[in-house]
Amino acid sequence: MNIREKEDTYLANVFQKMPVTIVRGKGATLWDEDGKEYIDCMGGYGVAIVGHCNEKVVEAIKKQSEKIITCHGSVYNDARAEFLEKLANAAPRSLDKAFLANSGAEAVECAIKLTRKHTGKKKIIAMIGSFHGKTLGALSATWGQKYREPFEPLVPRVEFCPFGNLEKASELIGTDTAGVLVEPIQGESGVHLPPEGFLEGLRELCSSRNVDLIFDEIQTGFARTGRMWACEHWKVEPDIMCIAKGMAGGVPMGATLARSDVMASFKTGDHSSTFGGNPLACAAASATIDYIVQERLVERAATFGAAFKADLEGLKEEHPLVRDVRGLGMMLGVELRFEVKDIILGGLAKGILLLYSGRNIVRLLPPLVIQESQLQRVASVLGDLFSDEESKRMFPSAK
Ligand SMILES: *Cc1c(COP(=O)(O)O)cnc(C)c1O
Repeated sequence: MNIREKEDTYLANVFQKMPVTIVRGKGATLWDEDGKEYIDCMGGYGVAIVGHCNEKVVEAIKKQSEKIITCHGSVYNDARAEFLEKLANAAPRSLDKAFLANSGAEAVECAIKLTRKHTGKKKIIAMIGSFHGKTLGALSATWGQKYREPFEPLVPRVEFCPFGNLEKASELIGTDTAGVLVEPIQGESGVHLPPEGFLEGLRELCSSRNVDLIFDEIQTGFARTGRMWACEHWKVEPDIMCIAKGMAGGVPMGATLARSDVMASFKTGDHSSTFGGNPLACAAASATIDYIVQERLVERAATFGAAFKADLEGLKEEHPLVRDVRGLGMMLGVELRFEVKDIILGGLAKGILLLYSGRNIVRLLPPLVIQESQLQRVASVLGDLFSDEESKRMFPSAK
């Protein structure tokens, strides 16, 4: 059997597979088994923030793997201690405690338990269009009906509020509401920015009603949007924050951050994870934070992201099939007037790996180390693909 046959035979059939086999990566470049090169705008679903096989991360993993690979949270470890200090320094100022886990969904699970324990209340308010992961608790706060329905009953007492509607949020917050869970910028539903005043308003609502504000920065965190945390764009700090994706340079890791007084509501045994705080992941994550700071990836994401977005907006002027261009930093979305499947496949053929959100949105989550010339190439290839689609669909050309 070849590679694809093996995966198709033995792997649970839960992924919408793209017809490509990636065997190697460096920075924002990927190679398939035939040596064909791709520009990575998928970034491992937003994981490859510091680039594939980042030198500093590789070095840290090598070094740590020769010292110790596993070390349970019930004993102390130097790599973990060092990472926790770095994380606290990089995190929003008030969030100085962390629970360490291994994925985004796990970070959300912890947040749901923590807000219930902290407030002694039960209800969670999540947003329409949200994505928080697919384990049962996280799924309960995830909007997509197709993900939820087959697995009901889910965790009860989760209610959904239209993203951006403060009035509705205020209405939904009741005496039994523990927390409001929100992505500062919605990722999976197609890169949606919060309307002016929404996050600030939620902050006020939560503070005045004794409710935890919980941000899911799993996709938006670690410099992705041109700030270390997306919530900085609106100068709002949550009580609890979930992070994961790129935090350990590609090694699985997630964390739930909280203010000390919030995290103090967890008592011994209330929550745990065998792998959480794994020294190998911690060493990789320390190297990742160092790299982001030393290489000024926050600024890079902001400036390169703005230039790239301007190029994409240029495509919108030229191509009537482009409905909208959205995003901040290196978290960008291009909404089309039809399904993007052919664009994704066309991109692959032309050596560009793209991501979709929903049926008609191309999402771009490239490594923040991507070269300017690579971004220009992506914009030019997208332009060609849009032209092809327009002639196929006989869209009137603007030119
Ligand atoms: C990816 C993602 C998750 C889930 O993370 P997993 O590691 O896949 O469990 C949760 N929330 C957001 C915003 C995400 O982008």
